[in-house]
Amino acid sequence: MRPVVVKIGGGALAGGALEDLPEVLETGRKVVLVHGGGPQLTRMLDSLGITTRFREGLRVTDARTLEVAEMVFGGSVNKALVRELGALGVPAVGISGTDGPTFLVEPVRDLGRVGEVARVEPRLIEALWAGGFVPVVATLGLGPEGAYNVNADAAAAALAVGLGAEHLFLLTDVDGLLKEGKAIPALTPEECEGYVADGLAAGGMVPKLRAAAEAARGGIEARIMNGNKKGAVAGAIAGERIGTLISEGVVAR
Ligand code: ADP
Ligand code: MG
Repeated sequence: MRPVVVKIGGGALAGGALEDLPEVLETGRKVVLVHGGGPQLTRMLDSLGITTRFREGLRVTDARTLEVAEMVFGGSVNKALVRELGALGVPAVGISGTDGPTFLVEPVRDLGRVGEVARVEPRLIEALWAGGFVPVVATLGLGPEGAYNVNADAAAAALAVGLGAEHLFLLTDVDGLLKEGKAIPALTPEECEGYVADGLAAGGMVPKLRAAAEAARGGIEARIMNGNKKGAVAGAIAGERIGTLISEGVVAR
């Protein structure tokens, strides 16, 4: 059984879909969680009087912002998620992508300390799995000048490809890529960019669709779905039609 990568968005951090994990793990499936924490970081930066700027959905990250991002993503957000999983009976260990190192990144031009995953090194994740733990990965990566901030959707997709995962679940606070209030059931990777170009997907949905498309091109079934809905993860693994599925094999219907 190929592994499952679950990305949890800032708005869905305490969501009900995580309650499926004990059941999924019982089937022997290997699971790794990846999380963002943008809203939490913005709140902390505000309280420190540091202004936040975005370019095409990506945070411009100077050295100070990076320092705070590492505190928030690798610290408070990561540890809260690990505790939450512990309360569900899931033995979890929080790491950052710079541990191992797991994410090796290349700097993204003009965004400061923002990186793109160039290589995934799975040894630490595999060691945690071997010990019976679920890794919870904060999306920072190691690059030429130290730690870099990595978009969590993109990092989750790179990890899914690097691990040869079967599923990538992008859990968020909406039911999928919404059109007229309803989630589009299925898309090919080629169709994703069209929805970015025509403006249906905006803001945080843009990097999410692009990440899903990248994973789909790597042979993974990527789904954008609501992390607040209990049963979403277990249901999708069981083959239910939930959220928006992005995959190479999708037949238009
Ligand atoms: P996450 O923290 O899960 O990454 P984001 O806020 O980054 O969440 O991205 C999800 C958001 O994308 C939604 O809450 C919504 O505001 C926005 N969005 C923009 N266009 C769409 C769309 N067509 N369908 C659904 N959500 C959309
Ligand atoms: Mg986002």
